[in-house]
Amino acid sequence: MKIAIVGGGIVGLTTALKLHREFRNCEITVLAENYDDLVSHIAAGFFRVGHTYYGPTEEIKKKWISDSYSYYTEISKKFEPIQAGVAESEAYMFSSFNPDIVQNKLMEQVVPIYRKTTDEEFNLINKNSKYGCYFSTILIQNQYHLPWARNKLKEEGTNLVTKTIKSFNELVDYDFIFNCSGLGAKKLCNDKKMIPIRGQVIKVYAPWVKATFYNETDTYIIPGIDGTCTLGGTRNFETFRKTVCPHDAKSIRERCEELLPSLSKAKTLKHAVGLRPHREGGVRVEIEKISNDRGKAVIVHNYGHGGYGVTTAPGTAQYAIELVQNYHKSSNSKL
Ligand SMILES: Cc1cc2nc3c(=O)[nH]c(=O)nc-3n(C[C@H](O)[C@H](O)[C@H](O)COP(=O)(O)OP(=O)(O)OC[C@H]3O[C@@H](n4cnc5c(N)ncnc54)[C@H](O)[C@@H]3O)c2cc1C
Repeated sequence: MKIAIVGGGIVGLTTALKLHREFRNCEITVLAENYDDLVSHIAAGFFRVGHTYYGPTEEIKKKWISDSYSYYTEISKKFEPIQAGVAESEAYMFSSFNPDIVQNKLMEQVVPIYRKTTDEEFNLINKNSKYGCYFSTILIQNQYHLPWARNKLKEEGTNLVTKTIKSFNELVDYDFIFNCSGLGAKKLCNDKKMIPIRGQVIKVYAPWVKATFYNETDTYIIPGIDGTCTLGGTRNFETFRKTVCPHDAKSIRERCEELLPSLSKAKTLKHAVGLRPHREGGVRVEIEKISNDRGKAVIVHNYGHGGYGVTTAPGTAQYAIELVQNYHKSSNSKL
């Protein structure tokens, strides 16, 4: 069995790792244009899904989220944070006017602790917030996690190839092609539902910040595992600009310092911009068959995770693999 995975971001590498667990005797090749400068690296890697995240059904979406949480929890228990880039973390969400903002039913069902903030905890921030919640969650820092995943894949015998795929017809020699190309699917699949949501952040050094803080103005402060902190954010719908905007940078700094004044002494490490691979209608995880005069293959699409790809990559990868297993069962052949 020959399997190709197009994409070397969090979705592609997690799919490859899970495939190794499920099908030990397959030959797996990851093909990616780039492995090192991706939106997956811009993400703070905070495990949380928002209300705009959709799967094919509510039930499947919930399973994606809980499967993902179990996957990362297992890694956090087996490996040191600095090895695999995965660690337990804590978060607060605040709002000055709307109690619904701090509620998140999807998160409440997976994380061990999700509760209202205490009066004391309101003092952690410099804002007159009326509503707040605290929850325990996970942090996946891709600067560490993706190299860890690549090393693990190499040890397990996966080929990691740098190559741009222009058409899936190039890959009909493979039995299965997992399409984890993120925003690249816009062109590769001519998928007009794929839309970039631009996000700008500032990476600072602030080792004293121990918990994530979020508020309703899409302002967030997310500590990493190494003393760095991601300050955000912006969400510019259908914006392809990847250069840093100084106005956004100023606004992010001001909003974050207003929320947590101690950040005024945090040294800026870098400014960064990423394009979230958003797909209207939800993440695409489905099978498509292709054939040409050289052969035939089955594509398993797994892209369009928007602002929640780090969080849900393991769950959609598991689902994509189950689609392949069911396909095989129904076509009466064995894996
Ligand atoms: C500012 C910001 C903050 C974020 N914070 C979070 C967060 O806290 N939590 C969270 O869950 N998510 C977060 N996200 C979202 C997250 O970054 C994405 O959902 C996730 O990284 C998408 O991963 P991916 O593997 O699908 O895409 P990518 O990382 O873009 O990887 C796509 C891969 O496909 C390859 N590729 C594309 N086209 C081709 C082709 N034709 N041929 C060969 N290779 C190809 C690319 O080279 C790359 O290797 C954030 C995003 C931004 C911008």
